[in-house]
Amino acid sequence: MDRKYRPESLMMSHGYKPKWSEGAIKCPIFQTSTFVFESAEEGKAFFELAYDLREAEQGEKLGLIYSRLNNPDLEILENRLCLWDGAEEAAVFESGMSAISTTLFEFLAPGDVLLYSSPVYGGTEHFIHEVLPKFGIKVMLFEAHTTAEELKEKLEASGLADRLAMIYVETPANPTNTMIDLQAMHRLAEHFSRPQRRVLFAVDNTYLGPLWQHPMAHGADLVIYSATKYIGGHSDVIAGAVLGSHDLIHRVKTLRTFLGNMAGPWTAWLLMRSLETLKVRMQQQAENAQQVARFLHGHPKIKTIYYPGLLTEADGEQYTIFKRQSRSPGAMIAFELHGGEAEAFSFLNQLGLIKLAVSLGSTESLAQHPATMTHAGIPREQQEAIGITEGLVRLSIGVEYAQDLIADLEQALEAVQVGQAQDADFP
Ligand SMILES: *Cc1c(COP(=O)(O)O)cnc(C)c1O
Repeated sequence: MDRKYRPESLMMSHGYKPKWSEGAIKCPIFQTSTFVFESAEEGKAFFELAYDLREAEQGEKLGLIYSRLNNPDLEILENRLCLWDGAEEAAVFESGMSAISTTLFEFLAPGDVLLYSSPVYGGTEHFIHEVLPKFGIKVMLFEAHTTAEELKEKLEASGLADRLAMIYVETPANPTNTMIDLQAMHRLAEHFSRPQRRVLFAVDNTYLGPLWQHPMAHGADLVIYSATKYIGGHSDVIAGAVLGSHDLIHRVKTLRTFLGNMAGPWTAWLLMRSLETLKVRMQQQAENAQQVARFLHGHPKIKTIYYPGLLTEADGEQYTIFKRQSRSPGAMIAFELHGGEAEAFSFLNQLGLIKLAVSLGSTESLAQHPATMTHAGIPREQQEAIGITEGLVRLSIGVEYAQDLIADLEQALEAVQVGQAQDADFP
């Protein structure tokens, strides 16, 4: 039978054969640092490939050598992770930040320019803004709502266009869910590419991936994940991944070998377990989020709500982009309460079922205050410019019973007394 199975059908078995492990239906944890070679000749052949000393022969794969280079749990996980995005290859890391920093280090050199969207994840922002310039890399940020046309002009005017090496975006932008047009960014990368110097286009797809958005289908070269979020999905593991073509990921894996930040077998095993339920979790999360968003929409204590599922044609370009590139509005909701920090804190302190914590994409629902928590590192004026006001709260919706979540939100909103909390500061 030639049927091509869908990723959700393959997540339990792809890339693993029970006969490798005494018939065990599940891939065991290969908790080993090193692997025994059948012969010295075999060891030599493996190292020739590991060090790129010769081309692989037809069908020849890198053999197992040492768990910093490869390990069965890591390799099988990487094979499975490719399925949703339709990528050729994946590299998994011990954190999302190590996936991001290793990718940026591999593809950027002194004198290069990195163009990146704002806001991005706080750790990414710090790495780009504080670390990359120490290595002579120029970084230019653009606000998420900037159009590709405006960016093209800005780059041309900067005189740095011929040094552009990578465009890096996060969409929807965290925490306000601003959509960035992937296809337009891809065209921008093409526009500034030269035959000897291709501009790479990288997308952090943590917010909607790997189910609800497939950036490679819209021209991305590299797709990056914090696997700590939806992929892991249980708030019990930190991990990350980068996906792309064989050539690009081979380069990332080579640097990973020398930085030594690959995921270990136990992390890889946990993620394989998580991948089996990824679709059912994410579907339930998105369904719950839509119910929660409908409840919050128009609530008298709420000034603005940011959720892609509430976009309509009246929202113009944002709606068009969302419809074109995302398959679901996802499970991340941000909303601004009337008032400021005091009102937001009063709301957060009153929540019961929903936990007050950063992170996202897990089975349990979480709430946090971007201005003083995840985005505290961004200067006040820049925060305001990207919609991170003092009254803004971000929710990550889990798999609980939707009406229970709504009841928790309802009682917490009831406890917020707009204006009063501020009065208390000025008796
Ligand atoms: C959490 C997160 C990261 C960083 O991932 P870690 O696994 O915490 O290192 C990067 N990007 C986004 C969008 C994130 O949410």
